[in-house]
Amino acid sequence: MKEQYATKKVWKEIYSNQRGLCDICGKKTIKLDFYRDCEDNDPHDTLLCDRCASVLRLCKDDIELLEELIGFLKFQRDRWI
Ligand SMILES: [Zn+2]
Repeated sequence: MKEQYATKKVWKEIYSNQRGLCDICGKKTIKLDFYRDCEDNDPHDTLLCDRCASVLRLCKDDIELLEELIGFLKFQRDRWI
């Protein structure tokens, strides 16, 4: 049922609502695709750019891991300031 949601018509509607911008980083690109969570791969009603979708997929939507990554980057950045 959810798969039917991922039609071109729905994509166009959401793309228009998001003004062609990724729902995370705000990057404008024609290459937006439905966010699909790693658990069931079902499409959600939001579009992401390839970079943001790839990061989430690589991290398997693991919020704790993503927070650890942010902490790591901030620590590394602050260490050299
Ligand atoms: Zn993005």
